[in-house]
Amino acid sequence: MRVYNFSAGPTMLPLEVLQEAGTNIEDYNGSGMSVMEMSHRSKWYEPIHNECIALVRELMEVPDNYEVLLVQGGASQQFAAVPLNLLTTGKADYIVTGNFAKKAYEEATKYGDIKLVATSEPEKYTYIPKTTRADFREDASYVHITENNTIFGSKYHTLPDTGNIPLVADLSSCIMSEYTDVSKYGLIYAGAQKNLAPAGLTMVIVRKDLIGHEMDICPTMLKYSTQAGKNNSLYNTPPCWCIYVMMLNLRYLKKIGGVKEMEKINKEKAAMLYDFIDNSSFWTNPVAVEDRSMMNVPFRSPNEELDALFIKGAEAEGLVTLKGHRLAGGMRASIYNAMPVEGVKKLISYMAQFEKEHK
Ligand SMILES: *Cc1c(COP(=O)(O)O)cnc(C)c1O
Repeated sequence: MRVYNFSAGPTMLPLEVLQEAGTNIEDYNGSGMSVMEMSHRSKWYEPIHNECIALVRELMEVPDNYEVLLVQGGASQQFAAVPLNLLTTGKADYIVTGNFAKKAYEEATKYGDIKLVATSEPEKYTYIPKTTRADFREDASYVHITENNTIFGSKYHTLPDTGNIPLVADLSSCIMSEYTDVSKYGLIYAGAQKNLAPAGLTMVIVRKDLIGHEMDICPTMLKYSTQAGKNNSLYNTPPCWCIYVMMLNLRYLKKIGGVKEMEKINKEKAAMLYDFIDNSSFWTNPVAVEDRSMMNVPFRSPNEELDALFIKGAEAEGLVTLKGHRLAGGMRASIYNAMPVEGVKKLISYMAQFEKEHK
């Protein structure tokens, strides 16, 4: 039986995508082998690779002066790769709005003069700090943000004004969940395992003029210039299987109407769940209303015993992985692109039933 998996990642993929991958698992396109078994330079794999990148460009309307790179190491590897590639002035400014943002900041401090411009840590990351252009150093190489905070359930709904300083953003948990104006960023990165593909793949979208200025100590495999241009993210062996599944997932996204249609569905799902929580005197969400995430919805009952009971009861209903991150406690429903509207409806219905029984 398939369950509704509310995991923060890795998490659900559309059933149609899994079935298509399953159909081809032994013999892809008459090759007599699986995509898992074939050379990344074979005549069967190369079209998969190129279609995946082309679909990213099409679905996100990536401007021509940006490269789309497929790399490994997770979003966490980019915490180091970003400063190693972009820290041309030796300075960068960071805003810390959650645990991953803090990790990115701490990693960057190894490589230069890194300013912590603002943090919501003292308020348990329940809001996005407001900044103005004047908060950033004139000679900062870039400003880094985490656009959607997976653990604490907050999101930037308006990007910080950084003037001419390139904005670098971790979009791991909101990539392709809504329209993104790529031209507003110097660089976007995202681990694939939330909205794109199985774990093991990371996407980087980077403005071409920012490529090729890496520090001397930057490892070859972390240089954007190693994968960019004619290397086409095929400098070494890419995670072919992940890229294949990502390509199928993007074909599916295109078929259902693309990112703008996905955004409508995601807005509907999130609004249903937040409305239900806000109208209840039993369930609560700690995040400032204007900063709430559309993808990750933390919530609590009146006490920890009831939280534990709820998680257990939900599991029996096929609503799984609702336990909150250990840093946040309570519950968290991650309602990424592949979570159907019906899954959210079923969660709400079980929450209502539980509330009645335990109020
Ligand atoms: C999941 C996540 C990460 C970590 O990704 P890995 O691919 O496991 O390194 C980093 N940032 C954000 C915002 C995430 O949601």
